[in-house]
Amino acid sequence: MKLPFIIIIDDDAQVLRAIQRDVRNKFREDYKILATESANEALEAVKELKLKNEAVALFISDQRMPEMEGTMFLESVMEFFPEAKKVLLTAYSDIKAAIKAINTLRLDYYLLKPWNPPEEKLYPVITDLLDDWQNNFTPDFAGIKIIGYQWSPLSHQVKDFLTGNLIPYKWFDVEMNKEGAELINTHKIETNELPVVLFEDGTLLKSPNEIEIAKKIGLNSTASEELYDVVIIGAGPAGLAAAVYGGTEGLKTLMIEKKAPGGQAGTSSRIENYLGFPSGLSGADLTRRALTQALRFGVELLSPCQVIDINTKDNYKILSLSNGPEIKTHTIIISTGVDYNTLDIKGINALTGAGVYYGAATAEAHSCKGKNIFIVGGGNSAGQAAMYLSSFAEKVFIVIRRNSLDATMSHYLIDQINKTKNITLINNSIIVEAAGNNKLETITLENIKTCKQESSEAAALFIFIGAKPITDWIKLNIIRDSKGFIVTGRDLFKFENLKKIWKIERDPYPLETCIPGIFSAGDVRAGAMNRVASAVGEGAMAIKLVHEYISEI
Ligand SMILES: Cc1cc2nc3c(=O)[nH]c(=O)nc-3n(C[C@H](O)[C@H](O)[C@H](O)COP(=O)(O)OP(=O)(O)OC[C@H]3O[C@@H](n4cnc5c(N)ncnc54)[C@H](O)[C@@H]3O)c2cc1C
Repeated sequence: MKLPFIIIIDDDAQVLRAIQRDVRNKFREDYKILATESANEALEAVKELKLKNEAVALFISDQRMPEMEGTMFLESVMEFFPEAKKVLLTAYSDIKAAIKAINTLRLDYYLLKPWNPPEEKLYPVITDLLDDWQNNFTPDFAGIKIIGYQWSPLSHQVKDFLTGNLIPYKWFDVEMNKEGAELINTHKIETNELPVVLFEDGTLLKSPNEIEIAKKIGLNSTASEELYDVVIIGAGPAGLAAAVYGGTEGLKTLMIEKKAPGGQAGTSSRIENYLGFPSGLSGADLTRRALTQALRFGVELLSPCQVIDINTKDNYKILSLSNGPEIKTHTIIISTGVDYNTLDIKGINALTGAGVYYGAATAEAHSCKGKNIFIVGGGNSAGQAAMYLSSFAEKVFIVIRRNSLDATMSHYLIDQINKTKNITLINNSIIVEAAGNNKLETITLENIKTCKQESSEAAALFIFIGAKPITDWIKLNIIRDSKGFIVTGRDLFKFENLKKIWKIERDPYPLETCIPGIFSAGDVRAGAMNRVASAVGEGAMAIKLVHEYISEI
């Protein structure tokens, strides 16, 4: 396999030699390193590499150079390698320019000169960036291949499942891709058997469901223990944090996830406000880090596997699963989060998965290349999706019912959107119809002030219109508020029926539900803050309360 490139540029020959030496010492086995003193020469080399179909993983550029500033160089190369990581080499006096570049050109890191010792100041950062790049990069590889029709909902489900589980794959649209057509001929696949997943070992699955794929890629769907200290339902940020703390504190911990670890955060293209990551990080990266951390501490994960009911028996809790036998535990943490509200308009159901997507659908970003797409919703998740998709689509339209984004979106995102030329805000408007033959082709917008309707061509519609708690699977009498969110702690005293359910001496702990030993954390909890950091905090806190409960039984 061809090695990807790291490109280094600095007009100061001595600094260039030093950084080239340090990068080479650590990364030469996995990357080719190209270093030059001239920005123009580097730009020419980048164009050549693009033509030769090479991959560039990382650019490291000095800021102050005679031919052009480093920020300008990095901006120019984004046209050729938009997914490459970008690091600016700066002197202390250039920090302002570097911080500005984090917003304007999505700089991944700025490295202060000198970077000694490299083991501390250079290698950890570069290793992280390269890992992240590798994780999202799909090289010409012999890994999993999916062949199908772009506008088939089942193809979308398969791609979404593998993306969510951080499994790299290569997608072949049979109608657009010659190689895809060749593959179906070689493997004698009938078109009505698509999508087909081809594995590295030469085996294949035709029109597979998630369980079949999960088995094939080695995901675990059977618990190994008779009894757990804590079972965490849902592997979003709250569940993952609870898992890490449960694992580190020696509790026998099982986490069960119905789709893919990461939850809503896992679908985010860039989380910019999570503590400790000044350039932001993708939801996939956060998930990969958190999951590795949890598994390292001995936490067991069942995925994909849905909890369909919970019950209590003496001091034990019993979980029923969609697939597999019941599971017994001392305590439960419910961190099942929220799900998108559906957009109830004419034509939408038939096109869901075929151009209409709920949530960020990062798996479909590449199919938006050069097309006009629409996003409905004015919250941060819609804003992030618009920013992410704007580097693929020709034009991105954000449709909101309100007059402006001010009340619903963070200012940093509004600023980014205002500066992005191919994003347009359509305010005071709603979408009233989606239409197309097997795939989305047009949408109809209505201005709510003038009632004027207008149809537009649309290759995709991404919907972010609020969310509802995932609690309707719970049959047990767990007190929920009028919207279905789980009530915990002192808020339970507002509910008359608490007295009928709560039969022990002490008051409920802060994250405890009306059933002793069953806790709730994250977005599914009434009064939650709907942020990654707060979900993580609650997950960690829930484990402390699990300890207290276990010590009293
Ligand atoms: C696109 C997007 C971008 C966002 N960006 C940001 C951001 O930049 N900063 C920020 O602070 N917040 C952001 N948020 C909000 C943040 O992601 C959420 O607040 C956070 O993910 C909540 O975490 P959680 O663990 O409570 O729930 P979730 O993330 O919703 O996870 C719940 C998990 O439980 C699983 N599950 C549900 N039911 C069951 C069941 N019965 N059995 C097994 N598993 C089940 C689900 O599949 C899911 O994986 C964003 C949200 C979205 C959608």
